[in-house]
This record gives sequence, structure tokens and C-alpha cells, in this order.
Amino acid sequence: MASMQAVVKTKPEYGAEPQEKPIPKPRPDWVLVKVRATSICGTDVHIYKWDPWSAQRIGAKALPQILGHEVAGEVVEVGPHCKRIKVGDYISAETHIYDPGDLTSMLGALHVGRNMKILGVDYDGCFAEYFALPESICWPNDPAIPPEIATIQEPLGNACYAVLGEDADVAGKTMVITGDGPISLFAIGVARSVGVAKIIHFGKYDANMEIARRMGADLQMHTNQTTGKERLQFVLDHTGGNGVDIALEMVGSPDSIQDCFSMVRKAGRVTAFGIAAESPLPVDYNNGIVFKGCQIHGINGRKIFDTWYRNRNLLANGRLDPTPVITDMFLLSDYAKGFEKMTERPRKSAKVVLFPAKEEFEAAKKRLAARKK
Ligand SMILES: [Zn+2]
Repeated sequence: MASMQAVVKTKPEYGAEPQEKPIPKPRPDWVLVKVRATSICGTDVHIYKWDPWSAQRIGAKALPQILGHEVAGEVVEVGPHCKRIKVGDYISAETHIYDPGDLTSMLGALHVGRNMKILGVDYDGCFAEYFALPESICWPNDPAIPPEIATIQEPLGNACYAVLGEDADVAGKTMVITGDGPISLFAIGVARSVGVAKIIHFGKYDANMEIARRMGADLQMHTNQTTGKERLQFVLDHTGGNGVDIALEMVGSPDSIQDCFSMVRKAGRVTAFGIAAESPLPVDYNNGIVFKGCQIHGINGRKIFDTWYRNRNLLANGRLDPTPVITDMFLLSDYAKGFEKMTERPRKSAKVVLFPAKEEFEAAKKRLAARKK
């Protein structure tokens, strides 16, 4: 049987191992993809560290398992029941394998449906030369989008959903975005590209705050050098004393959550994306929500496939360039360096992209250098 190189979680402890694995055989309604680029997600970091979440969600019994779920690649084989995707298609993958028969899914919220399975969590992932996935979650890429960009569309989808909310009523409005992780930085880019008029960013790490500026943040403040009162005053000063129309909470810390509920204007929207270390946690229920008449929008995943469609159009037509967020690229065999970058504090990196093949890695470096000029 033909084999491939893969990054495998072998033991219920920190790290992963490079291993030679058989190339997977796709199930009847799955396809096999030759991976051109893949990227490291926060979920992969949780699994790599084997924190309490991954120990409970995946469990030692599921190991060994190949890591990864963000991908761009070429379809090289399709199962006999596949109808839509063909050999040679250039695709990325929605990570959530939804159950089409579940009521929530049938009502259109595929991303939070029940019986959800996740690539790289419930099945082998894409940190490998080849990777198998259901045809139903394949997303055809525009050829104008290079693999190092196409692979980051999955987290970019979360950012797109967070910015647009359910009504996409954001053009000409003001927005606070908290945090300086990759999805906060992507959200700034999306907000800019869909016409948000003023983007106020709250971050902590200088290197990533610089990326936020390049992605389109208009005003910034360090959260680690200011008080909540100062931050609120800053927002009021820049919104005619009203507060922002929309506040995206993308940190999950009590301070950041409190900031968002206090900074949003009356009848505005607070989007809850950050995951709190401890929950339940207190919010100013009366003044922050009830009397404000504000909307709260929880984000878990991406609107399937609405955000994919919008991002493909924005990326392929040059309206959105996420290049500044791609801070590091490595060969897949150097995955450990990538995980080091992702966990280093103070944070100096945002998105890390990995390439199984040297030629693709070299070509991507040239493309990235040209775009960064
Ligand atoms: Zn991801």
C-alpha cells in the first residue's frame, strides 16, 4: 500500500510525532485530496498540548490520530457515490461535518446542528500529504486564490460571520474588535472590506497590533496599559458619545466581555466569540443588555456556506488581503516550529501555514514576498 508522511498525535501528552501512514482510501461519498497547504488552528494547539478540553473531547482511546483541519488541495480520487466534486478540483474544507437530517441543520443553522462531527477532531486530519473528507463539505476554490490563502478560509469564515452577524447590516457603521489572535485580525480585514466605517481595536501584543493596523484598524488601544474606564471613554470620544454600533468580543476574558457590553450603543449588537476560561460569569444584565435593548449574537463556527461564498468573492477579487496575518510558513516536517510560534508569549505570530511539498513552499514564499511589498 502506498504511504505518506503525516503529523500524528500518538500519545495522550504534549506534542505529536512525524509518522509514515498508509494513504487513506476514501469512503463511497468521500474524496481524497493531495494537500497543497494546511494551517495551524487554535484547536490544533489544544490537541497538541493535550489540554483538559482535548483529553475530554477526543480521549486517549481515539489515538493515534492525524492532526489538522484547515486545508487547500487538489482532489485526486473520488468515491463512487460522489456527484459534485471531480478529480482535479481545487478545494478547501468546511471542518464541520453536519447531519443533514437534524432539525437545527434543516432550519439552516448547519454550523450548530446536532450530531456534528469535526475533521481533525473526530476523524484523521490534514497535516499529511493526503487527506480524505466527505464530498458534502468540500468547497471549490477560485483558482485566483493561492493555497497559502485558501487554507485560511476556514477561520476567516468565523471572522466573516462575527463581523456580519445574521443581518449583515454593518456598512457605514462603527465597530469595536477585541483581541489580537488571528481571528480578531481577520475580522478587522473583513470589517474593512465590507464597509465598516470605523474600526476600534483593543489588543495587547505590539507585533499583532501592528498587523491589526495593516489589516485596517483605525484606532487602537492597549488593554494591558489602560483601565476599563479609559477604554470606554476612548470609545465614547470617538463615537459622538453614543458607543459603537457593534462590539465583537474575541478574547473571552471578563474585562473584554465587560468592555463590549459597556461600549456598545443602545440597540447595538454584541457578538460573543471568545471562549471564557470560566463560565458562567457576571455581566451587567440590566444596564448592559435589558435597558440597552442590545442584541447578543453567539458565534460557533461559520455560517455554512454563506461565509465561504462571500470570502471567496472578497479574496478572489482583491477586496480582502489577509497576507499580513500569515506571519510564518514552514514545511510540514517542521510542524514543531509552527506550534512553538503559536504558543510563544509575548505573541509575535498570528497564522502559521505548513506545506507538505518543498516546491509549493518555495513558490508560496515568492508569492507572499511579492504581496507583502
Ligand atoms: Zn480552524
